[in-house]
Amino acid sequence: MNITRYRARIHLLSRRDGTATAPLSVRAAVMAHRPEIPMLCLRPAKARKAAARFVEAFPGHVLYAVKCNPDEVVLRALADGGIRHFDTASISEVRLVRRLFPDADIHFMHPVKARSAIREAYAEHGVRDFVLDSPEELAKIVEETGHARDLRLMVRLGLDKGDARLDLSGKFGAPPEAAIRLLRQCAAIARVGLSFHVGSQCCDPSAWERALALADTVVRAAGIDLEVLDVGGGFPVAYPDMHPPPLGAFVAAIRRGVARMDLPAGCVLWCEPGRALVAACQSLVVQVQARRGDMLFINDGVYGTLSDAGALGFRYPCRLIKAAGASHGALRPFGFYGPTCDSLDRMRGPFPLPDDIAEGDWIEIGQMGAYGACLRTEFNGFDRILRVEVGEPAAEYANSSHRAA
Ligand SMILES: *Cc1c(COP(=O)(O)O)cnc(C)c1O
Repeated sequence: MNITRYRARIHLLSRRDGTATAPLSVRAAVMAHRPEIPMLCLRPAKARKAAARFVEAFPGHVLYAVKCNPDEVVLRALADGGIRHFDTASISEVRLVRRLFPDADIHFMHPVKARSAIREAYAEHGVRDFVLDSPEELAKIVEETGHARDLRLMVRLGLDKGDARLDLSGKFGAPPEAAIRLLRQCAAIARVGLSFHVGSQCCDPSAWERALALADTVVRAAGIDLEVLDVGGGFPVAYPDMHPPPLGAFVAAIRRGVARMDLPAGCVLWCEPGRALVAACQSLVVQVQARRGDMLFINDGVYGTLSDAGALGFRYPCRLIKAAGASHGALRPFGFYGPTCDSLDRMRGPFPLPDDIAEGDWIEIGQMGAYGACLRTEFNGFDRILRVEVGEPAAEYANSSHRAA
């Protein structure tokens, strides 16, 4: 495990002692460790199953977007579930994937790369697929690979602001006219693909159909043979306030969009899911350090694992684990304060929890596998987290209308 990725000290607690003991339940892990620092609970089987489901459902290659959760245990579980392709955005991600999986296909999908990263990825890690959205980046790739003849160049098409919770269209992607020119330039020297990304946690399947209609216009105008069509990531998961349609609805929309295009017979579809593969495979146990009315001071926050609960206002399923005795409280909406001294370290939720919650109690926060631990900082000295592998049936969360599957 590359601990420096997290900019935090992480202790892996394993109950594996060579005997065939089953992993602890979350409650048992809490009682065993009585953690006063945040405790990350890993369920590798959930990542493996999510990957297997996605690989089975998607009519093409499934590239895992490594940035979403680069934990080695998670990466290995995804590989166990059938993931063979990885969407990387930095040389550290490329190195990590190559070290773990010598035979994996690694795709460099960041439209603006360091020159040294291009060089090393090509020369040392066998990367041949590079994304770009500008002629300047094309020139960099050509120069730093020594005018290689075996590249596959992916043009990233920009999309209008869409229906995703996290819109990424403002930063990357060539507008249609520029994408047409780039496709032609790339086709003159390499095999070519087209990619787009509708934005993260996109709950509307028709967003892919609209993007594919635009892609169709661009590819027809360019008049080139497309070898890869990459429909990006953004596939959503359920949160307490979001209940997206099932994966099948997204795959059906993509199939409809692709069927309307005039693609060469050999053109391969790719997608780049992150969140959809890993959200459910980790939960976070935090401890209540103080209660003031309906605000709880907890030991993790927006500079730690709960970044998206801050400014983005993500809500997560929560359940109470009492320090002593059973809870008999009715549910009441709480907000959280994180441990740092910054007043922005606040998560408004609301997070429904029993109203007898008190200092010393723990809260298990679910769906933390995506964009959670990988965003931790060591700000203000809150740099420690425990990691445990747990194995238990789906937890029932108080503010979730369904079992967290
Ligand atoms: C972040 C990202 C992804 C993964 O997005 P999810 O919403 O986690 O599925 C895929 N592709 C690109 C280009 C990205 O930037």
